[in-house]
Amino acid sequence: MLLDEEVARLINAPEKALMLLSEPDRVVHFRLRRHLPPGYKLIHAYLVYHNTARGPPCKGGIRMSNDVTLEETTQLAELMTYKNALMDLPFGGGKAGIVADSKLLRASKAVIMHGFVHEVRHELISGNYVPAPDLGTGPAEMADIFSETHLRESVTGKPVGIGGLPGRAEATGKGVATIVERSVEEFLKKDLSNTTVAVQGFGNVGSWTCSFLEEKGAKIVAVTDVDGGTMNLNGIDIAELKKYCAEKGTVSGCGGKSLNKEDIFKLDVDVLVPAAIGGVISGDNVADVKASLIVEGANAPTTKEADKALDKKGAVVVPDILANAGGVVASYDEWRKAKSGSKTKKEETFNTVRETLLEVFDEVLDFSQKKKASLRKSALAVATLRLIDTMSSRGWL
Ligand code: NAD
Repeated sequence: MLLDEEVARLINAPEKALMLLSEPDRVVHFRLRRHLPPGYKLIHAYLVYHNTARGPPCKGGIRMSNDVTLEETTQLAELMTYKNALMDLPFGGGKAGIVADSKLLRASKAVIMHGFVHEVRHELISGNYVPAPDLGTGPAEMADIFSETHLRESVTGKPVGIGGLPGRAEATGKGVATIVERSVEEFLKKDLSNTTVAVQGFGNVGSWTCSFLEEKGAKIVAVTDVDGGTMNLNGIDIAELKKYCAEKGTVSGCGGKSLNKEDIFKLDVDVLVPAAIGGVISGDNVADVKASLIVEGANAPTTKEADKALDKKGAVVVPDILANAGGVVASYDEWRKAKSGSKTKKEETFNTVRETLLEVFDEVLDFSQKKKASLRKSALAVATLRLIDTMSSRGWL
C-alpha cells in the first residue's frame, strides 16, 4: 500500500478513506483462449480498477510483459489513483496487464490486442477503462484497440491519424525533462547546462527524456537498456543513439564506452533518471547511488527500503506520480479532444504538460517545506487530500 501511516497522519486522513484506498475497488482476471499468437496456449490478463472515486473513466496503461502479475498490476493501478488525483484529472486509477513477451512481433501483439478487446469490450465501450501505452505496448497497439471499438475516446496514445494527440508520444519524456530542469535549479542550485545525467531505459520515456534534456544543454553521460549500456563523459549524441537503437534494437555497443547495465546506478552524476522498470533502486544497490537527485521516469523504480536510505543520505527523490505524469496529462487532453472532435498542435501539448507539472511541483514543494516531509510523502499527501474531498462529495466517507 502506497499510503503509509506517516502520510495519513500528516493530513489527518479519515479511517474510512484509508480503508477504501487500501484495496482495489474491482479486479478482473481473465484469460485469452482463442486469439493467441504462435507458441501460446493461453494468455492471462488483468484489469484492475483501484479507486473509482474520480472516475469512471479509470485511466492507466496496458503493460505487456512475461513478468506481469496481478500484484504488480494492482500496485500500478494504485499508483494511477494517486497520479491522476495529484494532477487533478477527472480519472480514477486503473491498469491492465497482459502476461506475454514484450518483444513479440507486431503481428502477434495485434492478435493479442484483438483478444484483449474481445474479453473486456464492455469495459472499453462503456468508458469504464480508457487504456494507454505502457511497457511493451505503444501507439500501434492502441490503434488495434481503436480498430475494434471504433470509438476515439475509448483509448489514448493512438497514432495521430486516428485522433491521437500530436506530442502524446513525447509527453512523458517532456514532463520528466521539465521536472529534471526545475529540480536541478531548486535542489542543486545549478543550470542544466552544467549538469550530468544518467538514464536507465531507452524506450519511450527514456529516449524522449534524453532528447529534451540534451536540447536544454544537459550532458547525458550514460544510458542503459535491458541488453546493456553505453557511456561517454563528454556527452552522448542522442540523435546518433536513437538511430543506432532503431537499427540494432539496443543501446549496447553504440560508440563511447560500454557499460554494464547494473553499473548505471553507481555513476558519479548529478541526476539519475530510472526510466525502465520497477524496483531497480533497492536495498541491494542503494548504498552505491552517488547522484544527489533522482527523478523517477519509470513507475515505482525505488523500493521503500531504498527510498528511506536515500532520504537518510540527503538525496532528493522526485516521485513517479509527479515526474512521469506528463503522459497522463496529455492523455486527458487526447480524451477530451476525441470527445469534442477538436484538434491541437504539438507545442500546445508540450505547454499543457509543462504548465500542469510545474504548477503541481510547486504545490508539492510547498507542502514538503511546510510539513518537513519528503517529496514522495508530500505528493501522496496532496493527492490523497484531493481523493478524500472527492470521496466525501460522493458520500463514500
Ligand atoms: P518501453 O517499453 O518503451 O521501454 C522500456 C525500456 O526499458 C527499454 O529501453 C528496455 O530495454 C528497458 N528495460 C527493460 N528492462 C530493463 C532492465 N531490466 N534493465 C534496464 N533496462 C531495461 O517502456 P516505456 O513506455 O518507456 O516505460 C518505461 C517506464 O515508464 C515504465 O515503468 C512505465 O510504467 C513508465 N511510464 C511510461 C509512460 C508512457 O507514457 N510510456 C508514462 C508513465 C510512466
